[in-house]
Amino acid sequence: SEDFYRKADKLNAVGQLAAGLAHEIRNPLTSLRGFLQIMQSGRVNKKEYFDIMLSEIDRINSIVNEFLVIAKPVRTKFQKQDLIHILHSVITLLETQAALNNIEIRTKVEDGFPLVECSEMEIKQVFVNILKNAIEAMPCGGVIRIHARVQEGSVMIRIADEGVGISESQFPRLGEPFFTTKEKGTGLGLMMCYKIIGDHKGGININSVVNEGTTIDVILPA
Ligand code: ADP
Ligand code: MG
Repeated sequence: SEDFYRKADKLNAVGQLAAGLAHEIRNPLTSLRGFLQIMQSGRVNKKEYFDIMLSEIDRINSIVNEFLVIAKPVRTKFQKQDLIHILHSVITLLETQAALNNIEIRTKVEDGFPLVECSEMEIKQVFVNILKNAIEAMPCGGVIRIHARVQEGSVMIRIADEGVGISESQFPRLGEPFFTTKEKGTGLGLMMCYKIIGDHKGGININSVVNEGTTIDVILPA
């Protein structure tokens, strides 16, 4: 019956959400495990690793919270943050994965870049999701260019990759929950980005040319 199908749909959505949650948590866990292994070997700058590990644990916590509060959203705390510092911490996290794929990440920051009122954890998640997509779009390597610009009343972080690009037919579906073209994708990353940047009263613009690359502009009020 129709009712049966509706229930099956719902169960499927819950299953997909669970898969997404597992995926999001596995990343920081994998990174934590890697750092612990390096530390076990004894040849490390412990302070830096502790900092990264603590922030990874915070990230798992915030991911779990995000999913727990889906039905009952609570306001996250917005504070003036150094976006460039957040960006660099994300780059540090993803650098190994990028290097393994022959990808170089170049960053250019305009003078006078201001502090931005935002939730550090959420913005970190946005950068992770966008940069991971860029890395995943460049199976043959290349350069990811990040340009942080100051505009009238806002800031813009442009992240441009040299990847496979997005076809016209896929374009309207970007940000739709569970829309993915990847075998192991969840299709939750961009949806999260849109939601988070929307909560910050900012915007996301995506431009893409198939086989040339994709440019994603994240705009936040400043
Ligand atoms: P996932 O990465 O799990 O597939 P996302 O929501 O992060 O989910 O992305 C949804 C889809 O958008 C991807 O499967 C891909 O088709 C497309 N996409 C996103 N970013 C890029 C990019 N930088 N280059 C090419 N395609 C992209
Ligand atoms: Mg993704």
